[in-house]
Amino acid sequence: ATIGDFFADMARRQGEREALVSRHQGLRYTYAGLHRAVRQLASALLQSGLEKGDRVGIWSHNNAEWVLMQLATAQVGIILVNINPAYRTAEVEYALNKVGCKALVTMAQFKTSDYLGMLRELAPELGRCMPGMLAAKRLPSLRTVVWIDVAGQGANQPGMLRFSDWLAKGQADDPQVDAVAATLSNTDPINIQFTSGTTGFPKGATLTHRNILNNGFFIGECMKLTAADRLCIPVPLYHCFGMVLGNLACFTHGSTVVYPNDGFDPLTVLETVQAEKCTGLHGVPTMFIAELDHPRFKEFDLSSLRTGIMAGSPCPIEVMKRVQADMHMTEVTIAYGMTETSPVSCQSSTDTPLDKRVSTVGLVQPHLEVKIIHPETGAIVAPGETGELCTKGYSVMHGYWGDAEKTREAIDDEGFMHTGDLAVMDAQGYVNIVGRIKDMVIRGGENLYPREIEEFLYRHPQVQDVQVVGVPDSRYGEELCAWIIAKPGQSVTEDDIRTFCQGQIAHYKVPRYIRFVDAFPMTVTGKIQKFKIRETMMEQLQ
Ligand code: ATP
Ligand code: MG
Repeated sequence: ATIGDFFADMARRQGEREALVSRHQGLRYTYAGLHRAVRQLASALLQSGLEKGDRVGIWSHNNAEWVLMQLATAQVGIILVNINPAYRTAEVEYALNKVGCKALVTMAQFKTSDYLGMLRELAPELGRCMPGMLAAKRLPSLRTVVWIDVAGQGANQPGMLRFSDWLAKGQADDPQVDAVAATLSNTDPINIQFTSGTTGFPKGATLTHRNILNNGFFIGECMKLTAADRLCIPVPLYHCFGMVLGNLACFTHGSTVVYPNDGFDPLTVLETVQAEKCTGLHGVPTMFIAELDHPRFKEFDLSSLRTGIMAGSPCPIEVMKRVQADMHMTEVTIAYGMTETSPVSCQSSTDTPLDKRVSTVGLVQPHLEVKIIHPETGAIVAPGETGELCTKGYSVMHGYWGDAEKTREAIDDEGFMHTGDLAVMDAQGYVNIVGRIKDMVIRGGENLYPREIEEFLYRHPQVQDVQVVGVPDSRYGEELCAWIIAKPGQSVTEDDIRTFCQGQIAHYKVPRYIRFVDAFPMTVTGKIQKFKIRETMMEQLQ
């Protein structure tokens, strides 16, 4: 089945039950209502001259229009291109041109970001062309620009269409929509997602209905989602975390998705969980930390929470324990994955024993195959040994858009995606992610895993967050460096940290450099960019 078939079926069964709540917009949709709007938008897409296989970008924070676009494009086989709302002109130009987008949906304004202003800078032709007839030098494939009137920003924009006007051109009972839907196959590409850019330049992973629909379904199964569940999604939709682990996990189980806000804000998340009686909450570790450490945390009743997923980067055991105990998320799980694998490959389920659930990324997802290989020889390593995790099965992407060579480097002849992540599998099949191959530090011939040292430093009572990287060193090849954020209002010194390490971890694991900082360089997904920490240190140490 395609995403469109699946959603239509769910809408028939769920009818007037709530599908979507966009709190910051004050919008609520039932399954039946959402389905009607999706069909209407699919009709509008076709009437704008867009065809199956065309690419349409969405450059926006979370909102109801985002979901309509996700489901409507899938309905008629148009490929949705997720564009990070933190991208600025040069990055948007790259993304749109890289995949040849014909249309772009964006917000008018968000806080201080003027999206339409940035577009006019890229395409001054906008004001001189009829809507849908754009011919811009720097954006040669782009014809149509649609803007979402989130905060009632009013005035018409020359050469551009307002989302609500665009939608109004479609008809929910348009037979053309069914005619196109009937030609789709679940192996058609439906989505291009750029990777987070944690290790460098983002890559555009091409994903099919089969890839992400199945992944969303199995994620929901691990969480035991039902129609009674209401999942709070503060993670961005433009990333697979929000779009698949949030939207598709819910829509394949008849559950409700709740967006607290357009950007991340811990207070709004806490308010939303309480007001909407959410049963689940997703987040990257840094989001959960910000919620738990919010000065008003104790004021909120979060007792409706049961489950949720922490993922995206290493999930510290201490944070998992606090989420379980203080946020009532007794069934919280960790998921591991990457954009290229739709994304989840490993996940614990609510049945996984507690100690495994906080300390591992769980078992390999149903119907997927995993091998752990020696990074140099490619031989499969024994249980308990560290190697590169490779994934095979329904979830492996179609390829990197327009980059056959990179695709060949990533997916081997047997169909295994080489993740670049180091993992260990125990005798029972539980997987532990040790870190990225790129982050492994080799100091004087000794392989050191920053993750292990981070886990240890997290136990220091004054440490809120910590990142460990390797920096070049003429004597040892590399030396360890720790960046530490102290808990609010607490002070901690380098000596405190060194004393804390003494006798607890091997001397060569004690970071040579210790720095206290207020924040880490981050992608907007909330992922920490270690390469930038490394660069800053290299400049400082020169
Ligand atoms: P880029 O590929 O552009 O450098 P990225 O790899 O961060 O960015 P994503 O696809 O968003 O882009 O993230 C996937 C990566 O996130 C994985 O390869 C892994 O390194 C890390 N990751 C995801 N989940 C977990 C987890 N539960 N524990 C540890 N690491 C995780
Ligand atoms: Mg990656």
